[in-house]
Amino acid sequence: MRRQQTDRGTVLVPVRTRLFVRLGEVVVSLPSIVLSGWLLVELWARLGYWTTIVVVVWVLASAVYLFFVCSAVIGAADQANRAEPAERERLADAWALVAGDDAARYTLWIKDSDEVGGYAAPLRHICVTCQALAVTSDGELRALLAHEWAHHLLVPPLLRRWISCVRGLFEVPFGLCISFVAAIVLIVVRGCGMIGNRLSGYHPPPADHFRMGATAPTVAYLTVGWALVTVLTPALGSPVAVLVALIVLAQEPARAQLSQQVEFRADRVAVDLGYGADMRAFLRASGAAWEHTHPVHPLPVRLFGTHPTVARRVATIEARERKISRP
Ligand SMILES: [Zn+2]
Repeated sequence: MRRQQTDRGTVLVPVRTRLFVRLGEVVVSLPSIVLSGWLLVELWARLGYWTTIVVVVWVLASAVYLFFVCSAVIGAADQANRAEPAERERLADAWALVAGDDAARYTLWIKDSDEVGGYAAPLRHICVTCQALAVTSDGELRALLAHEWAHHLLVPPLLRRWISCVRGLFEVPFGLCISFVAAIVLIVVRGCGMIGNRLSGYHPPPADHFRMGATAPTVAYLTVGWALVTVLTPALGSPVAVLVALIVLAQEPARAQLSQQVEFRADRVAVDLGYGADMRAFLRASGAAWEHTHPVHPLPVRLFGTHPTVARRVATIEARERKISRP
């Protein structure tokens, strides 16, 4: 039995949940935001007032600017893609059924892609791929739209974009350092391995050449973490500097946990709108295909993945279905 859909947004995602998730988005980026501020203070001291103002305005404006450039490009691509008028009509009909009176407040995009999926884009845009339109049943399409709508209700994508721009001031150079160190470690490890193989006459199977392993990223994180401690120690003292470095490194898994909870919550909206079985069918078909082509161990997905595994999502959907079916 589908629920009566009046004042849907607030019924589906209560204000308390929205505040909690939005606050969470800030909290899991707070260390990087503070360190971005610290970098700006350093910039001010070295390059002066006006350069700092230009950097701040550029960082804050870039999210909006990027969005307008992207929306122009994606909008043009949407018009030129292979979606037929009948498919656009089907999408619009599905969306009207899901969002009711709220439907007109959002713009739908069709992305010309062979991947099955969709996403919530800034300023109330919802994107669905051509392939998703081609392979989903009507119910699955509505479930996908309900899920993406829930992302908008939980946290506006533009807010996430802004947070990532502000923290990027620290995280972009920090991430570059990590990639740089990881690349050096990889070259050294591979080089030593190749020399060792050549000397011993061992020929590894081809798959071994591409095996990344966790060594390079782990060594890179430890090295850059240690460098951060060295930079911060004169100002903060070594115990606090070590604590700050640990908190900075803990952001990535913390963000992954929040992102996974948001995915569960977005699935729940699809269930509450009556599309639980369709959501499960969609996940089983599209997610299982994805996991088949991108096989990974469940533990790294649990610790660092933005999305939970299909198995966990399906189990959580079923739990929700059982809960709301009880009288
Ligand atoms: Zn999602």
